[in-house]
Amino acid sequence: MAYTVDYLTELIHYHLVLGEADDESADRNLSLLAGEIQNLATRPLWQEATWVFCDRCGCSVDTELIHPDGHHYSDDGDFYCVDCWRAEELR
Ligand SMILES: [Zn+2]
Repeated sequence: MAYTVDYLTELIHYHLVLGEADDESADRNLSLLAGEIQNLATRPLWQEATWVFCDRCGCSVDTELIHPDGHHYSDDGDFYCVDCWRAEELR
């Protein structure tokens, strides 16, 4: 028998959630299990998100979306989102 994610999830639900007397115990089990599973990963499963805010309209932009060459930063260091950058270019 192949142990699929669905099968193992069902096992976890049955033994570590439904088998516990209360929600706190079930949540503690899941938290411990999640920590153990995270240690199995070959690289970090989560990455911290960072944001910058457009100096013109104030919208937030995930730094992952900003071109590494500093595109959309003006000469004085202000950051502009794509829409504001284009509006600035069209002036
Ligand atoms: Zn903007």
